[in-house]
Amino acid sequence: MADRMLQFVRLPQEAPAKRDVGERRADFDEIYRDFATAGAAAQSSRCSQCGVPFCQIHCPLNNNIPDWLKLTAEGRLEEAYEVSSATNNFPEICGRICPQDRLCEGNCVIEKGFESVTIGAVERYITDTAFDRGWVKPIRPRQERPQSVGIIGAGPAGLAAAEQLRRHGYQVHVYDRYDRVGGLMIYGIPGFKLEKPIVLRRRDMMEQSGVHFHLDTAIGRDITMAGLRARHDAVLIATGVYRSRDIGGPGVGLPGIEAALDFLTASNREGLGDDVPEFTSGRFNAAGRHVVVIGGGDTAMDCLRTAVRQGAASVKCLYRRDRANMPGSLREVKNAEEEGVEFVWLSAPEAFLGDDRVTAVRAARTHLGMPDATGRQSVEPVEGSHFNLRADLVIKALGFDPEDLPAAFDEPALKVSRWGTLQVNQRSFMTSLPGVFAAGDIVRGASLVVWAIRDGRDAAVGIHEHIQQTQVRHAPTPAIAAE
Ligand code: FAD
Ligand code: SF4
Ligand code: SF4
Repeated sequence: MADRMLQFVRLPQEAPAKRDVGERRADFDEIYRDFATAGAAAQSSRCSQCGVPFCQIHCPLNNNIPDWLKLTAEGRLEEAYEVSSATNNFPEICGRICPQDRLCEGNCVIEKGFESVTIGAVERYITDTAFDRGWVKPIRPRQERPQSVGIIGAGPAGLAAAEQLRRHGYQVHVYDRYDRVGGLMIYGIPGFKLEKPIVLRRRDMMEQSGVHFHLDTAIGRDITMAGLRARHDAVLIATGVYRSRDIGGPGVGLPGIEAALDFLTASNREGLGDDVPEFTSGRFNAAGRHVVVIGGGDTAMDCLRTAVRQGAASVKCLYRRDRANMPGSLREVKNAEEEGVEFVWLSAPEAFLGDDRVTAVRAARTHLGMPDATGRQSVEPVEGSHFNLRADLVIKALGFDPEDLPAAFDEPALKVSRWGTLQVNQRSFMTSLPGVFAAGDIVRGASLVVWAIRDGRDAAVGIHEHIQQTQVRHAPTPAIAAE
C-alpha cells in the first residue's frame, strides 16, 4: 500500500469550504466551493484502505471507494474517474446530494476518533474534473442492436437504465411528461444543492450517446401503455412518486397553503428562465412573507431554504418530532439553521387561521411516546399547549405517495403493493406485466437518487436478460452488469 495513505492520524478532516451565509442567502448557487486538487489528494490520503471497507458496503452502489481514493491521492485522476464511473452513472450528482452522513461517510471506520474521509466531496471532484478535462465521452456501443426499450420517466432511475442499455447497443427511447430531462433532479431539488447545468450536461451526453428523448409526452395521456408496449421490445416504468400527502384540520383549504413540490417546481422553473405565472403573481413567491413549512424531511429543508433565498420575512419549520428523530439529513438542518431558519421542534399543526387567506398556524406541543409497530416513537399532543405562529405562506411537505398507475395506464393487471408502489420480481425487476419492468421511487416509495440509480442499473440487467431470452433470433451476449 502506498505510504501516501493512512494520513488520517496527521491530517484533520477538511471538507470543501462553504460560501458565506450572506452570499448564499442571496442566490441559488451551490453552497460548497470546489475542492482544490491538492485538497482532494490530501483528503483522499486520509483513507486507511480498509480490508473490509464499510464505506463501500453502505454505499447503495457498492462504489469501489478505497480504490478511487487511493488513485486520487496519487494524482491518477483519470483512472480514479474510470473506477468511479464503472459503478455509478452520475457520481458528481451523488457526491453532491447523497446523505453521506447516513451512508458511506457515516460508516467510515476512522469516523469514530478522527472524523470520516470526505468521500462525497472527492467523488464529486473526480467527475467534475473528468468533465472539465474531456474524459467523459458519449457512449459508443460495440454493436447496434435492433431491439428497442421504452423508458417512462427521465429521472435518475430512467436515465441510469437508459445509459446501461445504450452501452449494450439497444435503441433507447425515454418518454417524460415534463419538458426537461432529470425528474426531481431538475424540478424538485433546488440549485443550492445541485446546480441545473450539472444535470443538463448529462442530458447532452446522453443525447450524443444516441438516447432519444420524447419530452412533453405523458404515457397514459399522449400514448397509451398498450401502444408503448407494442412499440418496444421492453418497457421500464420509472415514473417516481408525486401524489403529495395531505393534512387535515380547520382552515386547511385557505389560500396561501401550498404543496411543497408545486412551490419548489415554480422556483426551479423561474430559476431556469421559464415564464411562471404562479411565481410572478406571488402565489409561489415567499418574498416579504412569513413562511411556515410543515414537515421534517429533505423536501421540507429544501422549501425552507428556498423561501430564505426568495427573501421571506421569516421562515419557520414546524415538525412534530425532535431533531434526533427527523428523517431529513442533519447536514441540511445545519445549513438551514445557518441561513436563518428557525426550527419549532415537537409541535404539530391543529388549525389554519385567517378569513380570506391564511394568517397563522395554530399548533400544539407534542411529546414522543412509546415506539409503535415500525419502531418509531409515537407522537402525542400535550394538552393545553396551543400557540399561534404568524404565517401568510404555509407549505405542506409531508411526503409523497404513488398515483394509481394501473388506472392511469389502463392496465388493471399491473400489480401494486398496499402502498400503491409497483410490485416487481426482486431479481429481474419485471412487473406483473410481461416485458414491463419498474425501478426507482415508483417501486421503493420516496427514496434517494442513489437508490434510483441502483435500481435503474439492476432493471437494465433484467431487461437485457429478458430481451436475450425472448428474442432467440439474436445471439446471446455477455451480462450487462460487468460494464
Ligand atoms: P423521479 O426523479 O421522480 O423521475 C420520474 C420522472 O417520471 C419525472 O420526470 C416525471 O415527469 C416522469 N413521469 C411520471 N409519470 C409519467 C408519465 N405518465 N409519463 C411520462 N413521464 C412520467 N434524494 C437524494 O438522494 N438527495 C437529496 O438531497 C434529495 N432531495 C430531494 C428533495 C426533494 C424536494 C424531493 C422531492 C426529493 C429529493 N430526493 C433527494 C429524492 C430523489 O429526488 C428521488 O428519490 C429520485 O429523484 C427518484 O428518482 P426516480 O427516477 O425514481 O423518479
Ligand atoms: Fe457515498 Fe453516495 Fe457516493 Fe455511494 S454514491 S459513495 S453513498 S456519496
Ligand atoms: Fe477508507 Fe473510511 Fe472506507 Fe476505510 S471506511 S476504506 S478508511 S473511506
